[in-house]
Amino acid sequence: MYGGILCYNTYMKKYSIGIDLGGTKILTALIDKNNGEVAGFVKKKTKKEKGPENIVRKMLDSITEVMAETGAGLSDISSIGIAAAGQIDRNNGVIIGAPNLECYDLNLRQIVQSEFDIPVFLGNDVEAAAIGEMKFGAAKGVKDFVCVFVGTGVGACIVKDGKVIRGATGTAGEIGHIIVDLNGRPCACGAHGCLEAYASRSAIEKRIEGALKKGRHSVILDYLTDGKSITSNMIRKSIEREDELVTHCVDEASAYLSGGLASIINFINPELIVLGGGLIEAVDYFYRKTIKNARLKSLPVPAVKIEFKKAALGDFSGVIGAAYLEEC
Ligand SMILES: [Zn+2]
Repeated sequence: MYGGILCYNTYMKKYSIGIDLGGTKILTALIDKNNGEVAGFVKKKTKKEKGPENIVRKMLDSITEVMAETGAGLSDISSIGIAAAGQIDRNNGVIIGAPNLECYDLNLRQIVQSEFDIPVFLGNDVEAAAIGEMKFGAAKGVKDFVCVFVGTGVGACIVKDGKVIRGATGTAGEIGHIIVDLNGRPCACGAHGCLEAYASRSAIEKRIEGALKKGRHSVILDYLTDGKSITSNMIRKSIEREDELVTHCVDEASAYLSGGLASIINFINPELIVLGGGLIEAVDYFYRKTIKNARLKSLPVPAVKIEFKKAALGDFSGVIGAAYLEEC
């Protein structure tokens, strides 16, 4: 009898809501917990300049909208998982600091839980992506791996025995802030010479923009019309056209990133490194060069077994992973 009720409850709550709270978009999806499939989603622009209250309101509205669109009710949903880029206090469900969202000390769990009365879990964006990749993507079936995402910064998540390693204060995985040059470039964190000041997409953009301001020529100018800013696809197209400046800046970032990956390989000895983010997805040249050099720069024994894969879930990795934050 008890087993019957348990089965009934499990059946009733077959969904979770996963939310990817990013600097440009808020993606909210209803995820089927049995197979990780996206049953429906709502996408909204973040518009962080309008303030945290506006972001929170949009997020709450998107939860209501995705439920209305899919016909799911609160009784069908076991949890709401929220992944945000930034420092998260997972135990208390608080965003400590998310510069991309301009949100600080925001008790998101309390707000969302009081509105919907469903358990709410918070995690950071790379952590959610790693969970998604472990459940249904490039790391399916792998117990020890590291996920590295290259974007505005360089973030990582370490998974050991199928569990996310969070560290004493929940900030493990900040590979972007390992120091690669003691007197190097300033980093957004306040330190100097952090890896992400050299190897992130924004570092590449800054290098290209700096050179263009000094009068260097590049075919990337053909795409930078009407005040557009540099995108990963523009970088790919410029490399395909063998542009000297863009290729040099990408090579430089790749050299630093491969050094960072070699450090991970030597330090943690994982089976697999999953690489993701817009630049990795769009610029295969960058991905290939980085993994080749990472292997060469690693110690011989850990380098033999290490495998590299591109993240497989694309734009939905964050929402899928967020839906499983309650388990990992
Ligand atoms: Zn830093």
